[in-house]
This record gives sequence, structure tokens and C-alpha cells, in this order.
Amino acid sequence: MKIGILALQGDFIEHRQMLTGLGVTAVEVRLPDQLADLDGLIIPGGESTTIGKLAVMYGFMEPLRQFAQTKGMWGTCAGMIFMAKDVGADQPLLGVMDIVVQRNAFGRQVDSFEADLIVPVLRDGEARPFPAVFIRAPKLIEAKGDAQVIATLPDGTAVAAQQGKWLATSFHPELTGDGRFHEYFLSLLQE
Ligand code: GLN
Repeated sequence: MKIGILALQGDFIEHRQMLTGLGVTAVEVRLPDQLADLDGLIIPGGESTTIGKLAVMYGFMEPLRQFAQTKGMWGTCAGMIFMAKDVGADQPLLGVMDIVVQRNAFGRQVDSFEADLIVPVLRDGEARPFPAVFIRAPKLIEAKGDAQVIATLPDGTAVAAQQGKWLATSFHPELTGDGRFHEYFLSLLQE
């Protein structure tokens, strides 16, 4: 199994380290032709407008949309925004996932926070909460069509979705010592 991490901007190194720790071959992707032999791609957190601009500049938009048609893709934070069909703003989006996302939706007072989430799809997910790190995070306003919410905050705010082999998380599993979200993404690619 070979997984790519889109390395235009953001915290791609932490994803690579997490995957390597799980024994998976992980490569940083900087040009579209590097997508050719990958089983899945992670789009990291960072700044979605910057990732979008650079993706347009490097000719990634159509290759990424085509990649997503047959392969797994997971966006964390800015990556989730980039994968969404609707963010209520004019910025370059892949627009593959049927989700409505609101950027920077937690407001200034809670710019960054951590929360323990019950994520039933994860290994031991019901018994062992997942430590989720939120940094100027987006909210998942709606999951439509085949997209489903797979994690919520205690107040009911949706913060992760799945649509087939695609995942989107408002938070940053790569910044924790807990590899279960990465494991879950890998399991989707084996189906
Ligand atoms: N606020 C950023 C954006 O709108 C996302 C922040 C993050 O990826 N940690 O793109």
C-alpha cells in the first residue's frame, strides 16, 4: 500500500510520520504525475485558500478529481474544506464530497481546543474516545447524499464525515499519538 500526502502547504510531515509509524509507504506529492501509483491521498490541514491556489497553479485540480473517482481521499481541516462541494465562499475547491462546511466556525475565543470524541467506526471507538485537536477548525454543517456524519462533539456539532472511500475531519488526527483514524482510512482502501 502506498499513500500520498498532498504537500503544497500545511502539516503534511505529521501525516507522513503517522503513516510511516503504521508501517505504510507514504510519499509527499508535489506534482500531479506522482498520483499515478498511489492507493490513497491525504490532504492536510493548513490554509484552504492557499492549498487551493497552489493546486490550481500546479495543475492539480482535474487530476485530483479523477483520482478521487477510484481512490481513497481524506481531508483534515483545510483538506476537508478543499474536498467539500459547498463552503459558502468563492475559493478553489475540489468539490468531490457532498458536504456543506463552514470555515473558521468556532470563533475567536476557541481558536484551538481539544475534545475527546466517541467515533464508533474506529477500533475500540465506543470504549476509547479519540483525542481530537481543533485549530481554527471548520464545522460540518450538513452531510448530503451518500455522505454520512461519523463523529460529533458533545453538543451535536458534526466534525467528521465519510462518503465511500472519502473521509473528512474538522480536526487533526495527525497531531495526536493516536493512529486509529489513519488505520481506519487505510482499512477503507483495502475494501
Ligand atoms: N482555517 C483554515 C482554513 O480555513 C483551516 C485551519 C486548519 O487546517 N487547521 O483553511
